[in-house]
Amino acid sequence: MSKVLLKNIGTIVSGDISNPLLEGDAILVEQGKIQKVGMEASLNVSDADVVIDCAGTTVTPGLFDSHCHVVLGDYTPRQKQIGFLESEVHGGVTTFISAGEVHLPGRPKDPAGTKALAIVAAKSFANFRPGGAKVVGGAVILEKGLTAKDFEEMAQEGVRTVGEIGLGSVKNPEDAAPMVQWAKACGMTIMMHAGGTSIPGSSTVTAEMVMQTAPDIVSHINGGPTAIAPAEVRRLVTETDFALEIVHCGNPKVTLDAANLCVEHNSLDRIIIGNDAPSGTGVVPLGVLRVIAHLASLSSIKPEEAICMATGNTARVHKLPRGVIAEGLEADLVIMDAPMGSVGEDALSAIGAGDVPGVAMVLVDGEIVVSKSRNTPPPVRKPAVG
Ligand SMILES: [Zn+2]
Repeated sequence: MSKVLLKNIGTIVSGDISNPLLEGDAILVEQGKIQKVGMEASLNVSDADVVIDCAGTTVTPGLFDSHCHVVLGDYTPRQKQIGFLESEVHGGVTTFISAGEVHLPGRPKDPAGTKALAIVAAKSFANFRPGGAKVVGGAVILEKGLTAKDFEEMAQEGVRTVGEIGLGSVKNPEDAAPMVQWAKACGMTIMMHAGGTSIPGSSTVTAEMVMQTAPDIVSHINGGPTAIAPAEVRRLVTETDFALEIVHCGNPKVTLDAANLCVEHNSLDRIIIGNDAPSGTGVVPLGVLRVIAHLASLSSIKPEEAICMATGNTARVHKLPRGVIAEGLEADLVIMDAPMGSVGEDALSAIGAGDVPGVAMVLVDGEIVVSKSRNTPPPVRKPAVG
């Protein structure tokens, strides 16, 4: 499948929140990368190996789940379920970011063990694509005793992220801040838990602690599942420039408070969207789509902006070459439409009305990995492959 043409697209959501909607009705993919976007007539394509007639539907970048507690393989010991990642691909997710392999039974809590776990998870997920999706695995859990050299070694071995600070024995800013600097010097992206204690053994983290530690991402600013106080949410929005994560397994009131504050303070480019699952709340295949629908139907955030929060915003924070429909980037795409019976006429108006859209097709690197979602309601219009 070297050359793929998507044509008759009704709407293209770019993933770039500074310019969420693109002109055009066609996307050309070559060797897994986006080659051109525009009007089909101007693309000058006559030799595509595969033509997907999108039948007037909406094309978006593949969604990111910015907060997934993978362990190894497509299995969660927390909820004893297999296939949960592949199930989420049927909800349009093509990239999962591990927030820490914290659910590993008997998780080692010494420096050598936590380092080894991060490296093996990073390397394992680099070779394994559940349902075709990409998993950024191996988010090191900070334990006391890790050294600057450990971070250098982990980075060399493919560890890109620090999992939610607060999950391991390093809890206080005094212990965490130096490690954060070592991790940043190695190019890692750092997440930090915010809010109440999520599971036995982890900790309550206040906004003040987050600010003193200076991660890249405030994990679940809306609670995971217990939220920080409204005044603390305000401080994180107005006094920092950290990325602000909104998760499905959070507090619905604070979700809306945080979203409205970001609207007020012109900070929509800082919001990223995740599930924070598997967790005690469960496994949520449509969680990312549901957060998009919540934000777009209950706040003044537009549907296309909410989609950018789950695509280009997350890709930017994690420095990944996808998440935006632009030339040269990886062709991870979702074709979606209004679900049957929705008051919406297309994917965006359905989302704006609070409905989860119907996922009609999912592509990763230009290859079709889902041709009919088994988890979303069916879309009104269906693409055809020729
Ligand atoms: Zn958390």
